Amino acid sequence: MARINPEFTNKLKSYGAFDVNACYNCGNCTAVCALSDENNSFPRKMIRYSVLGLEEEIEVSLEPWLCYYCGECSATCPRQAEPGELMMSLRRWLTAKYDWTGLSGLLYRSLSASLSAFILLAVAVIAFAYRQDFDPGRLLHYGHYFEMIAIAGVFAVILLPNLIRMWYMTIIKTKTKVPAGNYFKALGELFVHMFTQKRALGCDDNQVRWFEHFILVIGYLTLLFTTVFLDWFASGSSFVIAAGYIESAVIFTITFIFVLSRFNKKEEVSKHAHPSDWFFVIWLFLMGLTAFFVRLFIDLDLLDGNIWLYIVHLIILVQWALIIVPFGKWTHFLYRSFAMYFQKVKESAK
Ligand code: SF4
Ligand code: SF4
Repeated sequence: MARINPEFTNKLKSYGAFDVNACYNCGNCTAVCALSDENNSFPRKMIRYSVLGLEEEIEVSLEPWLCYYCGECSATCPRQAEPGELMMSLRRWLTAKYDWTGLSGLLYRSLSASLSAFILLAVAVIAFAYRQDFDPGRLLHYGHYFEMIAIAGVFAVILLPNLIRMWYMTIIKTKTKVPAGNYFKALGELFVHMFTQKRALGCDDNQVRWFEHFILVIGYLTLLFTTVFLDWFASGSSFVIAAGYIESAVIFTITFIFVLSRFNKKEEVSKHAHPSDWFFVIWLFLMGLTAFFVRLFIDLDLLDGNIWLYIVHLIILVQWALIIVPFGKWTHFLYRSFAMYFQKVKESAK
């Protein structure tokens, strides 16, 4: 039997929700949402679940991930209940539920915990650089090793177990009987959504935002490949060097546009930003920018006299890889893609 918890809306506020109790159930939000349909009706259903505190129903639901946060529902809500923000905070809450370490929830709820984690890692990198006598060759070498180990470690220790938990909650706990073959048949859906986020195109005013996100995802993934597998900072290949410059420039240009739009707050989606949203865009911007200048300083033979630049880049990279990727907003990229996949799997089982 479902347990009602009237305190749940207060809990959600620490994840960024506004006053969902103001909702008087008119249904405008669901009517205007271009992504809602008879099979997946939101956001009103999620608002009712939240107001009643039906945590178990929300925990097993994929609907918060089916929303692409255009903000249309919030703009038309007559009660300023901010349904779009509620969907966003439910995604943060779900991220905390999937995360076996509990760190995701802690970092979402507490700004001081997030800042302490960032400072701690910055101090650790500076201490490490000091122990290496600020030697550029050694720091670049270990930095490259860190990238490889961090990717494999974070995926194996944090993200994979969390994805299994997500699968358990959304498929096994809902008692959906899925033949094993359906998981293979639906695999294409996972990769299509991961690389294109094509569902966002369904939002009425989303074409430009979709294109910016698409270019950003491609820029991010290709820069990751270029730095980790093609060793961009040590490469002598002009093709690899040029590719890295373009990819990092794409990242800092698009994220700069995102940061500006968050400051201007003109669009509905930029009106409310949780600290984790700021961390995501600012760190991505700084990562692209510092990577670009590190390679430029290498090419101009200036890095040896300016190793501080690489240390700044390394600090940002370590904070990104150990905080934002496993526990922060980066996970939304992964969980959303898997939500589309699980949704397809569930539909195929009906
Ligand atoms: S539009 Fe606002 S008041 Fe109406 S159901 Fe949606 S959240 Fe509630
Ligand atoms: S933010 Fe957009 S996609 Fe999400 S529920 Fe509201 S209208 Fe639908």
